[in-house]
Amino acid sequence: MATQPEVGVSDFVLLDNLTTDNFVENLHLRFKHNKIYTYIGEVLVSVNPYKSLDIYGPQHMAQYRGREMFEVPPHVYAVADACQRVLRQQGKDTCVLISGESGSGKTEASKFIMKYIAANTTQVHREYIDRVKNVLIQSNSILETFGNAKTNRNDNSSRFGKYMDIHFDYKGDPVGGHISNYLLEKSRVVSLQPGERNFHSFYQLLSTNNAHTKKFGLNTTTTYKILGSERPTAQDSKLFSVTNSAFTSLGFSQAVVTDIWNIVVGVILLGELTFSEGQEGQLDVGGPLQACARALGVAAEALRGSMAGRVLAAGGDLVSKRHSLCDAHYTRLALLKAAYDRLFTWIVQQINKAIEVPAGTYKNTLIGVLDIYGFEIFETNSFEQFCINYCNEKLQQLFIELVLKQEQEEYAREGIQWTPVKYFNNRVICELVDAPHQGIIAIMDEACLNPTKISDSQLLEAMDKRLSGHKHYTSRQLSPTDKKLKHSVDFRITHYAGEVIYAVTGFMDKNKDSLWQDLKRLLRSSSNASLADMWPEGGDHIQKTSKRPPSAATLFRNSMSALVAGLQTKEPFYVRCIKPNPLQTPNTWDDQLVRHQVAYLGLVENVRVRRAGFASRQRYDRFLKRYKMLSQYTWPNFRGTSDKDAVMVLLKDLQVTDVQYGHTKLFIRSARTLHQLEAARADLI
Ligand code: ADP
Ligand code: MG
Repeated sequence: MATQPEVGVSDFVLLDNLTTDNFVENLHLRFKHNKIYTYIGEVLVSVNPYKSLDIYGPQHMAQYRGREMFEVPPHVYAVADACQRVLRQQGKDTCVLISGESGSGKTEASKFIMKYIAANTTQVHREYIDRVKNVLIQSNSILETFGNAKTNRNDNSSRFGKYMDIHFDYKGDPVGGHISNYLLEKSRVVSLQPGERNFHSFYQLLSTNNAHTKKFGLNTTTTYKILGSERPTAQDSKLFSVTNSAFTSLGFSQAVVTDIWNIVVGVILLGELTFSEGQEGQLDVGGPLQACARALGVAAEALRGSMAGRVLAAGGDLVSKRHSLCDAHYTRLALLKAAYDRLFTWIVQQINKAIEVPAGTYKNTLIGVLDIYGFEIFETNSFEQFCINYCNEKLQQLFIELVLKQEQEEYAREGIQWTPVKYFNNRVICELVDAPHQGIIAIMDEACLNPTKISDSQLLEAMDKRLSGHKHYTSRQLSPTDKKLKHSVDFRITHYAGEVIYAVTGFMDKNKDSLWQDLKRLLRSSSNASLADMWPEGGDHIQKTSKRPPSAATLFRNSMSALVAGLQTKEPFYVRCIKPNPLQTPNTWDDQLVRHQVAYLGLVENVRVRRAGFASRQRYDRFLKRYKMLSQYTWPNFRGTSDKDAVMVLLKDLQVTDVQYGHTKLFIRSARTLHQLEAARADLI
């Protein structure tokens, strides 16, 4: 393999002349030759080929086992192997951070990493380890069924963020894991863009005549409202069996699986209920009320009641309030979103029970794999994009800190002098969003807590007041002549990845994310034991004045800080994914699209940081092994004392001067030097 001719450069630090043009050209050249992986030092850049390449089989895995990254062509397996090696040899926790926009190949990369890790185990306790591996891989099918959907960017797009820890014993064999899920895009349950689908689970369930559909009178030919205009496919029915067997192999009981599918049925049927105004101003509920109530395990009257009105605890009294048509529609939407969201999180919790490391098992180290939404800029950007883009700011911040920190630590350890490179630090944008009192989240929370109802535009006014003058914030009000801010609800954040215009409409509601107490009580009372288990707070006494739960943005911010705090303690590896075209087709290259991603992922800057110090660093023994043939003083053998001495003699003979000698590693300043060494070596072999 090592003798295959390289196409372009396999590590961007070797580019002669570092410009965005050259960067993209090298990426394109390699892509044309099916070389989808390229390094920036230890960062892997991956371009989605949209076709299956014969590079993932067991023989390919074997090629990466125990090899240094630069010894073999770039590959996601090399990252997985490096990760496992750090873990085994240095006993350190590691993590792989996978980023890129929707459809760029993040989830596939995370699956290859898991596959590699699972395959790379010792022979002892084979049976037990096989079970853990199986569980890790099966859990993916379930998560994808309930959390993925077809979007205009990706037919199998993850609509949630996922972080998975895989625990290892002292021999480096996996013994269990834990999944954290972040912010499911629950608004998808109730509203779809043209051409997009709801979550796969709905279509899978409806793709066959099965016990669940029969029991509630659903059929494969009816068009249900929440499914939009999309129909279940043959693939859905195949995946329905896959999901069910994954449930079984993760140890979900038949009763629980039935509960889960019944909730999915309930959600579909909730979407079919019709509301009309009765003669006496009351609200009439029509449509499949009975079937829907049965599916949710609640009394039909109770379900009707919770759509038609609600009970409020005002002071010491209970007051009933009738719903208008509009209230009823709103209530239904809130219930649909909340029920599905809880279902998803609950399923993740059950998977965690199945994969948790059994008590008494010795846990030594772990590898975390983060597969989370990339930066999103849509036609209209709402609260969800605001959260997702904030998440990307936090991860970029972590990237900057860790990459620079790592570099600095290594130079210190090796006794090397260096001057730090200038780069854009996005901390100021993170703070625009999350600073206490002054940040956008704090301003939103304050507005949500206000006893008088604050509208979205009042929220925008409050933001304008506090944030005017911030370099990364503006709004229509603050810049009336700015042509890009078309609507009165628009505000703009200049993210590290580019400008995003958000419409403040819906922010207040989505941030409050509240659900009437009546609905929580209703679900808690369900005879579907799993559903009842998802709603513990529904059991609270009606007059208990519970503290308002934290807002959606605050919960998200907290989960992001916990995530980042956890990642900071680990040795990170990065996979930066790139989408070559918006059509999801092979062999097609959209230069503009790639350029944009290269820019906002900061890849050229990344190369610059990497090179500002040194283009390359290599352990003396490895360097010697690779290049000793280039000098008569080191070939076939060097007669001196250490590898370091040998390398000094070798480079003196070759008249290479732009290097520094660390304690254990050689640091080469320019890529050109490395190039020349490689060329000289290629001439000889
Ligand atoms: P993301 O998670 O970034 O949104 P996915 O990992 O789901 O993107 O990738 C989208 C699709 O692209 C996959 O369903 C698959 O068809 C294709 N794909 C991604 N990576 C590869 C790869 N390495 N080889 C072949 N096809 C791939
Ligand atoms: Mg994904």
